[in-house]
Amino acid sequence: MQHIYSDPTFQMATDQFDLVADHLQIPKDLRDRLKFPKRSIGVSVPVRMDDGSTQVFQGYRVQHTLAMGPTKGGTRFGTTVTIGEVAALAMWMSWKCALAGLPYGGAKGGVYVDRKLSLNELEHLSRRYMQEMIPFIGPHIDIIGPDMGTNEQVMAWFMDTYSAYMGYSVPEIVTGKPVGIGGTYGRREATGRGVVYLVERAAHLLKMKLADGRAVVQGFGNVGAVAAQGLAYKNGMKIIGISDVAGAYYNDHGIDIRAAERYALDHGDLTGFPGAEPIPAADLLTLRCDVLVPAAVSGVIHGGNASKIQCRILAEGANGPTTVDADRVLLERWNEVFVIPDILCNAGGVIVSYFEWVQSLQSLFWNETEVVDRLFRLLETSFGLVTRRAREEKIPHRTAALAIGLERVMKARQSRGLFP
Ligand code: NAD
Repeated sequence: MQHIYSDPTFQMATDQFDLVADHLQIPKDLRDRLKFPKRSIGVSVPVRMDDGSTQVFQGYRVQHTLAMGPTKGGTRFGTTVTIGEVAALAMWMSWKCALAGLPYGGAKGGVYVDRKLSLNELEHLSRRYMQEMIPFIGPHIDIIGPDMGTNEQVMAWFMDTYSAYMGYSVPEIVTGKPVGIGGTYGRREATGRGVVYLVERAAHLLKMKLADGRAVVQGFGNVGAVAAQGLAYKNGMKIIGISDVAGAYYNDHGIDIRAAERYALDHGDLTGFPGAEPIPAADLLTLRCDVLVPAAVSGVIHGGNASKIQCRILAEGANGPTTVDADRVLLERWNEVFVIPDILCNAGGVIVSYFEWVQSLQSLFWNETEVVDRLFRLLETSFGLVTRRAREEKIPHRTAALAIGLERVMKARQSRGLFP
């Protein structure tokens, strides 16, 4: 089929889709309706830079399926962003939301940004991107959240821009905003916290002790840093390897995660962090460890390194960290590496985003205990469904997770029928 999404990440998402659609024996016409995004929007975003020049950035938003309710998804600012990557991430969001039982279709957005922006420039970019999106989004159409390269502050600018346009405050248009303007307790920590909860569940299933075990975390942002903290301080693991975009670091005695976080905050990234030795970035993922958490970009575990991965639990904090080639290798090593697939492992973020949306719509706020308790209950249900289905059908956890999500979207589509 001719389409505009040509990109390795989109290819990966559709290859995964095809494997699961084969397993579920979905007929061809229904496959195409489920696979390709319903809507894709491309915008040019002109931004006045600090030096007085005007730069035009390319931005996107993809709404994958409208069968389940409004769409929901984060916004990525960075160098990997293409319409194809955004479409892949939107598709994964559909299966992820359906697996967790949330009343959303998947969406995603992004802006290709290839330079360091000042705070002022970041604000201009964020506000103008949101302004360009106004005709296509709404609290009951498409709700925006954070992803790589965006944060609470960007969400606050998004919300303020949308609200200024509407003439009143519309906190329910974004999630991941600061608590002081209608955000929820526990959103910032939600994804990393969910990753840690699922690692604990997997370890329990494998009768494996986490305390004093070794963990490696790739990516030291919202997901990676919170996951590293939970593994270290809640479970007593030694975090022997961490990395960010600037480099990877190793310390066999365990890295002081709080010190690393302080350092990254003070210096912008981990470059020169004195609490560990720099190692080649590619070596990080093949360190011998009990738990490996890729929490950065997609495609980092591939056909070339999957046989060298030396962890017992692979907890996919990132979206799409493992390619289809790598999955084939990991399938043969199923009794060595327990995979917690991304659409299950990092679902904590969208689950608490859903809680935030509900609270914003009702103007009725929950405390953090309530948020975390409800988060863990939803993750527990999903974990049980995925591991049971994998066992019963003798399929990998990823196939099981995708099959559950895809089936739910397919049933909704079939119930609603084809218009006209
Ligand atoms: P973030 O921007 O807060 O942090 C990203 C981190 O990854 C940074 O430390 C950055 O330096 C590092 N990084 C970037 N490129 C890298 C590379 N090539 N190698 C090593 N490190 C690299 O982003 P985040 O919100 O933590 O998101 C991380 C991943 O988790 C993404 O794949 C994202 O889609 C996924 N995710 C995030 C959420 C969420 O709630 N934030 C939810 C679900 C999934």
